[in-house]
Amino acid sequence: VKYTIVDKETCIACGACGVTCPSIFDYDDEGLAFVLIDDNTGTKEIREELEDDVLDAYEGCPSDSIKISEDPFHGDPLKFE
Ligand code: SF4
Repeated sequence: VKYTIVDKETCIACGACGVTCPSIFDYDDEGLAFVLIDDNTGTKEIREELEDDVLDAYEGCPSDSIKISEDPFHGDPLKFE
């Protein structure tokens, strides 16, 4: 896991990811999640010590809105789908 991004179109604002990995995920005014470190563009490499937490958040997202990749997303959550 090097990059992550939230698909805000499908996020249901459940609040799980920010609890699992608060250094990476936060919520906007509507409660929708976004990636803190790069303004949800999926372009900034995740620090190695946070990778396990990001993976936990990815696996725990009930709407599969968290995307992960070895390559940057450049703002498009569906880039690799
Ligand atoms: Fe949205 Fe998924 Fe995070 Fe819940 S866990 S707030 S559905 S991105």
